[in-house]
This record gives sequence, structure tokens and C-alpha cells, in this order.
Amino acid sequence: MNLLTSLREIVGETNVLVEASDTAPYLVDWRKRYRGAALAVVRPADTGEVARVVGACANAGAPMVPQGGNTGLVGGGTPDSSGAEVVVSLQRMNRVRSVDRDNDTITVEAGCILQSLQDVARQHERLFPLSLAAEGTATIGGNLATNAGGTQVLRYGNTRELTLGLEVVLASGEIWEGLRALRKDNTGYDLKQLFIGSEGTLGIITAATLKLFPLPRAQATAFAAVPSLRAAARLLELARNRADAALTAFEVMSAGCIQRTAIELPTVRVPLPLKAPWYVLMEISDHAGEEHAAGILESILSAALDANAVDDSVIAASLEQSRSLWRIREGIPEAHAKAGGNVKHDISLPVSAVPAFVEETNAQLVRRFSWIEPAVFGHLGDGNLHYNMGTIAGTPIAVAFEHEREINDIVHAAVAARGGSISAEHGIGQLKRAVLPDYKSPLELRLMRQVKQALDPRGLMNPGKLL
Ligand SMILES: Cc1cc2nc3c(=O)[nH]c(=O)nc-3n(C[C@H](O)[C@H](O)[C@H](O)COP(=O)(O)OP(=O)(O)OC[C@H]3O[C@@H](n4cnc5c(N)ncnc54)[C@H](O)[C@@H]3O)c2cc1C
Repeated sequence: MNLLTSLREIVGETNVLVEASDTAPYLVDWRKRYRGAALAVVRPADTGEVARVVGACANAGAPMVPQGGNTGLVGGGTPDSSGAEVVVSLQRMNRVRSVDRDNDTITVEAGCILQSLQDVARQHERLFPLSLAAEGTATIGGNLATNAGGTQVLRYGNTRELTLGLEVVLASGEIWEGLRALRKDNTGYDLKQLFIGSEGTLGIITAATLKLFPLPRAQATAFAAVPSLRAAARLLELARNRADAALTAFEVMSAGCIQRTAIELPTVRVPLPLKAPWYVLMEISDHAGEEHAAGILESILSAALDANAVDDSVIAASLEQSRSLWRIREGIPEAHAKAGGNVKHDISLPVSAVPAFVEETNAQLVRRFSWIEPAVFGHLGDGNLHYNMGTIAGTPIAVAFEHEREINDIVHAAVAARGGSISAEHGIGQLKRAVLPDYKSPLELRLMRQVKQALDPRGLMNPGKLL
């Protein structure tokens, strides 16, 4: 029986998409940098169907590309141009299987939208802390497959730290039922960790058991103008010392990023004049109440003012104002995309190394390319910057893309020289696959290939990505 007929038998005629108008949104990535073709897009409804789909593809020797919300930024969910690959979309698998309030856990299917998962947790007076600008579209399966980071990592960790158990359909079509809800389990290798961050190259994640946390009673948000990135790092230190675990977000943005966002997104309101070179968005989550949270924030800002680490600041007086401040930060990727994109780097460094890295690498890039304009923002609390490069007014962005490889090389070399990572949270996908061997030791690469060989010996799981 031919593969399409088998797939139709498994998931039903309407869930095997083959017409160009139906498959188009699945064949291009969010940044529109990668376009592919596919034999079909298949939309299974449950884990049993995923297992049978994988079995049928394996029998036919057809490569598979798992896909969630398709918001990934490295082309990991886009098929190649051969037209031979099958995109397996998890979007229909969006059920919450159970919530255990006493154990503080939730078990959800992989296609559950991150924001829906946060909402369900909130309905149970619990917090699921993973938070990122694409949360209205990204799925938990995609978050797991990329080990997504986001804005709350400094308090709650990456997706990896939030995961207790996984259910995975292996390349063989077998179902690994690893949905444990345990905070302690030392019974050998922690297999779920292999699948978290594997970008669909080892198997298809179909469900996960995740940690929940007490819902903070209050959140206080501040937006502060800082005279330099060193001052931002000083402000972070003060905030950590005074707030400790109550500091749940510490984001940094260059003035240029904010200006671009205000131009491209008319709903964005900037509460301070853009006189400083850098701005910080800081959030305190507190269990004592609103006054207490605001008090902590005020004491941090007042100490920072005394230490010349802050020029000016505002504290949100309402939830609406807090959302408006977050809108500035979260609108940046969308605004840059609207303006034609830029050459992106998702890097991490020890926080202590960030200011010198930015000063020295900006200077090096500007010396090399007179037209370059850095557009830098990110999760300073985690040492993670989106160190992106655009062009000054009058130079088309295409010029930056023409020099992309050289810009990448300069940035990545500067990162590597300081012990950093060339992919902090977005993964490798297609975008960084060719350069990964330059920044991983031969031994690490060999071990990664051995893992791949053990779990996907025929190389049918998302080929051409990561390795
Ligand atoms: C505006 C914007 C802001 C963003 N901000 C952040 C941020 O702050 N932090 C961050 O980490 N990322 C961020 N991202 C990147 C992206 O949202 C994350 O990588 C997200 O986790 C991807 O989820 P998804 O469901 O869209 O996955 P997709 O894009 O569909 O897939 C991503 C990768 O995971 C694989 N995959 C998807 N589902 C499965 C599955 N069930 N089993 C196995 N493999 C699977 C795919 O094959 C692909 O390799 C942002 C993206 C956008 C557009």
C-alpha cells in the first residue's frame, strides 16, 4: 500500500494535507528564511496515531519532520526541498490530561499551546512559569524539543528544569511511556533529557508531565533607563541581592530596539524619553502582596540611583501598565521582522562577561562594516543576548544579509573566546548546523552522533537538522 493511503487510513482523509494551499503554512518558517516541500502534512489526534504514522513512514523509508506551532527561529521544523519528507504536526494533540494540585504537576499533550497551558495552571491557582513572546502559538512539544528559555529562566530555569516526565514515540514507532511525576528518581540514565533540546531528531514528543509552582500574589514591574550595559549588570546584582528568588525577570534592550518597536508597532507606548543607550525591564513576583512587591522594587531602584546604575525609571501602577511595559520587550522580534529582519545571534555568556563582549564586539563589527547597526536585547539575567545586526538608515538590510557569514564568524568567535554558547535558547536547526562543528569538540560531536545512531539508526527523524 502506498504511504499516503496508509497515512489516510491512520488519521483520516482530512488530516493528510497534500494540496499546496493547505500545506503552505507548514512549509515555511516564522522568519520566512526556509521554504520546503513535503509529501504530506499529517495531523494525528493521539499518541497511538503518532506511533502508527511513524511506523508507516519508517516502513516506507520516509523521513519525518515533527512540527508544533512553527515559531522556531532556526528552521528546525521546516522540511527540505525534496518533497519526500512527511511533516508530522502535533497541533491536534492539545489536551490537558491531568492536573495534580497536591503534587504540583500537570500532564499535557505535546500540541498544547503554551499560553493555554499557563491559563489552565492559573485556573488551578498554580503557575506554569515558561513564558516567551511566541507563547500564543508555540506548543509545549516545540518548547521541549528546543529546550526553550524565555523571560523567567533566572528564577525557574529552562524548559528542561520544568520537566518531570515525557511520553515519546521513538523512530521505531514504539511508545516510550516515561510520564513520571517524580522530583526524585535515580534509577539510571535520565532518558527524558536526551529528547529535551533534541529538535525532533531523536523521536516525537507526544506528552509531558511538568512542574507547577505557587501563583505569586503580586507582581511589580519596572522599566529603567541605564547609562551603560555595565550599569545594567550592576542593577542586576543589586536586584539579586535585595530580591533573591523574587526577581523573576531581568530583560535588557538597547534604545535602538525600543525605537524600532515604537515605530513598527503603533500600540507600543514607551513611558520614558529615549535618552539613555540601554533600558531594563525588571519584574518582582511576591507572595506577600502588592505593596511588598512594589517596596522591593523601589528599594532596588533607589539603591541603583545612589550607585549611578539607573538614570530614570517607572514602576507600573496597574496590571495594564505592566502589560504595556512587557509589550515593549515582547514586540521587539515582531518589529524587527516587520522592518525586514536582521542578522541574528542567540548567544550566552557568563553575565560578568556580557558588557565587555558587547563593547568590544560592537566596536569590531563597526570597524569592519561602516554600515552596521547593532540591535541588541535579551535576557541579561541569564547572560543571554539576542545580539542582532541591522544596518544604519540609508543602507538596505540586504547588505547585512550579504555579509551574514562574516558577521556570524566575528560574533561567534568573540563568544567562543569568552567561553560562551552560539545558541542559548533557539537551538541549531538548519541555521547553525554547518557551524556547530566549529564550536563543539570532536568528542562531543562523536557522542551526539552515537546517541543519534542509537535512537534513530536509519536517520529518518528530522534529517538535516542539528547534526
Ligand atoms: C516572537 C518570538 C519570540 C520568541 N522568543 C523566544 C524566547 O524568548 N525563548 C526561546 O527559547 N524561544 C523563543 N522563540 C522561539 C520559539 O518560539 C521556540 O523555539 C518554541 O519553543 C518553539 O515552539 P513551536 O511549537 O513553535 O516549535 P516548532 O517551531 O514547530 O518546532 C521547533 C523544533 O522542535 C521540533 N518539534 C516541535 N514539536 C515537536 C515534538 N512534539 N516532538 C519532537 N520535536 C518537535 C521541530 O522539529 C523543530 O526542530 C521565539 C520565537 C518567536 C517567533
